[in-house]
Amino acid sequence: MNINVTRSSMPSYEEYCEEIKDLWDSRWLTNVGSKHQKLQRELEAYLDVPHLELYTNGHLALEGVIAAMDFPKGSEVITTPFTFVSTTHSIARNGLVPVFCDVNPEDYTIDVTKIESLITDKTVAIVPVHVYGNLCDVETIARIAQKHGLKVIYDAAHAFGMRYKGRGVGSYGDASMFSFHATKVYHTIEGGCACYHDDALTQKLTDARNFGLHGQEECLYLAGNAKMNEFQAAMGLCNLRHIDGEIEKRKVAVDRYRQRLSNIKGIKLSVIQENVQSNFAYFPVVFDGYKYTRDEVFARLKEQEIIARKYFYPLTNDFACYQNMPTGGGSKTPVAQHYASCVLTLPLYADLTCEDIDRICDIILK
Ligand SMILES: *Cc1c(COP(=O)(O)O)cnc(C)c1O
Repeated sequence: MNINVTRSSMPSYEEYCEEIKDLWDSRWLTNVGSKHQKLQRELEAYLDVPHLELYTNGHLALEGVIAAMDFPKGSEVITTPFTFVSTTHSIARNGLVPVFCDVNPEDYTIDVTKIESLITDKTVAIVPVHVYGNLCDVETIARIAQKHGLKVIYDAAHAFGMRYKGRGVGSYGDASMFSFHATKVYHTIEGGCACYHDDALTQKLTDARNFGLHGQEECLYLAGNAKMNEFQAAMGLCNLRHIDGEIEKRKVAVDRYRQRLSNIKGIKLSVIQENVQSNFAYFPVVFDGYKYTRDEVFARLKEQEIIARKYFYPLTNDFACYQNMPTGGGSKTPVAQHYASCVLTLPLYADLTCEDIDRICDIILK
């Protein structure tokens, strides 16, 4: 049987229908309706963040929160290429220059020992990524940012519901973005949010999410449309009721993978980070000196209709739109380049059975 790399969690059909029923009475389908407002409140509490605004997808949330910080065009933003291309685009599409910092070989997040050498008088911010739900070194990043007067905006697309030292991860840095895309741990079909500390951002973010309109007769910003609609919010309200159970089921699957793939020569699993409450979003495996290469394992699984993902490959600084920039080209970030060549994320979702995991591991180990 075919196994995909991910499979969306869903409430029962009846539960979703019950949730959307009153939309046929209210006829209020978008523009910050009652479901949007309810989901915003519930997520603020669940994610343990000071402020939260919902968006129609995670990308526009990240692009929007960077835009709201009003950095001068042409400013530099330090980020990593070992991510989904959305991170890099959200910087570049704001007229800012992404400066690529390498990742560390332990957890593939930004290498904090290499950040300061990239800071120039044009640097305004750091946009690190909590890759696979591996948390960045938030404390060192905060110290560097404070010393140099930089903003910190996390791409937390992979880190929904995670906590560090008991605090919601979205409360670290000046702002964070979570993605609620259908492939993520928690979803609203498409969707996302920006979390932030500064009260002054609220009006900018909410206006800019709706064409820059302020009330009915004023337009303050040149902006697009990024509103979450009521059907998305309804899916979010349903999925939030079940999220803890879904994460618990993912943990069972991850434990099984670890049991089968630990202590094998040439196979490296992600570190288990201290003080971190994980969400078990992804199961990346590094094939470094293993009897098969990453691409061979990928192909063998595919022959059996098991779809793993070369995530993240290619690096974003190797894409045509970035490779000719001053810090573009994967060779300038050799650690990221190495892991991009040998990492594979294995299928992982709440309903993946231990039998399926055993079948996947048998193929890898055979
Ligand atoms: C999914 C993802 C995004 C984009 O989120 P969307 O909701 O799909 O727009 C950005 N960054 C990372 C790391 C992601 O995985």
